[in-house]
Amino acid sequence: MKTILILEDNDERIAGFQKTVTELNGGFELKIWRDAHSMIAECAEFFPSAALICLDHDLNPQPGITTDPGTGFDVTKYLCDFMPVCPVLIHSSNVDRVYSMHNELRFAGWMVDRVGPLGTDWIQTTWLRRARELLAEHENTWKANLQANHVERVERMKLSLDGLGLGDALGEMLSYQSANAVRRLAENDLPAGPWFHTDDTEMAISIVAVLKSHGELNQDALARRFARRFERDPDRGYGSMTRIQLREINAGAKWRETAANAFGGQGSMGNGGAMRVAPLGAYFADDLARCADAARDSALVTHTHPEGVAGTIAVAVGAAMAWQLRAAPQIDFAQKFFAEILRLTPESKVRRGILLASQTPVEIPFPEVAKSLGNGSLVTAPDTVPFCIWMAANYPLQFVEAIGKTISVGGDCDTNAAIVGGIVALSAGRKSIPNEWLEAREAIG
Ligand SMILES: [Mg+2]
Repeated sequence: MKTILILEDNDERIAGFQKTVTELNGGFELKIWRDAHSMIAECAEFFPSAALICLDHDLNPQPGITTDPGTGFDVTKYLCDFMPVCPVLIHSSNVDRVYSMHNELRFAGWMVDRVGPLGTDWIQTTWLRRARELLAEHENTWKANLQANHVERVERMKLSLDGLGLGDALGEMLSYQSANAVRRLAENDLPAGPWFHTDDTEMAISIVAVLKSHGELNQDALARRFARRFERDPDRGYGSMTRIQLREINAGAKWRETAANAFGGQGSMGNGGAMRVAPLGAYFADDLARCADAARDSALVTHTHPEGVAGTIAVAVGAAMAWQLRAAPQIDFAQKFFAEILRLTPESKVRRGILLASQTPVEIPFPEVAKSLGNGSLVTAPDTVPFCIWMAANYPLQFVEAIGKTISVGGDCDTNAAIVGGIVALSAGRKSIPNEWLEAREAIG
């Protein structure tokens, strides 16, 4: 059975679609939703048989219903969380929104086209012609290969991404007066929003999107998303080598080559793999070996130097362990946390730094700890990751305090706090994140 999924609120048009679909002669079933929310709630169960999705944008409330019916753009955003299922044909006269929908879908890899609802017989003429072509040219590509508990995994990623994004935005804002960060965060003495995030969050959003839609770390999809987000919004404080790589990918280069060629063929040992990876650790929190493998894959898209890779693995495993140990007594936390990170992080400067961190007691004043382990001022993984891991190990339940202390040691403030925030959110839990902070930051998505 093949299904055509339609979002349309107008009775006349619905009748037009019902009549016209019989002319397609493919035995197509028609499934129609009159509002965005019910389509979002139900349409995924039709993905295995979907042959074509047709979307209107502007929707009117149905008689007797007072709730907002949503829009075709709401459904579009929902679809973009999935790998492409089948072609999409947009039929709205709201031209601006048609372009927004078209761009979003294309950006997420979907085949998409549009027809203008002009005249009285457009369904029988232009729509039918284009629908016929799309059905002939494209097959259903639905792949049901998502992980078990995918929805819970995605929720965990969002928690980590919230922590990461707040650490990033606060670290960036307070980097010029980092010495006061502990007090300012504790007293909520912070600028009015919106708080803007930087490259750390931008790239983490891409990791979350790929895991959400693929259920695994697909490197090609990740490179594509990194590059497209950069193209849309380049001024997010990306490192100069990352800018070069993403620009080349947008110009058609292969990520394997751009990543391998960085820094004269040495590959990047920057902290860019580590800064974005905590949500991946959240997704694979129940399987540390898989988590480390996926973290390595995520790093290699831009950072091929063994130090850049080791830092990425350490942070991802740290995030996974933070989740696993979230209910553990604080006294056991640091030891178990370090043990698994050290077990899975390959031999490297990063690992030696983490080993030193594991032997550095919480009683040592944290600015001293940062002096010995590094605070990211070199923007390399070995100079960044060990101190962040130490902070996450010793303040697992104190999200605000951990972020404040991390920022106060200076160095690469936004990245340090993004790493710590992405990990500690998972051990401290959602209740530890101030709601007013989430409201003050710019929207993530
Ligand atoms: Mg940054």
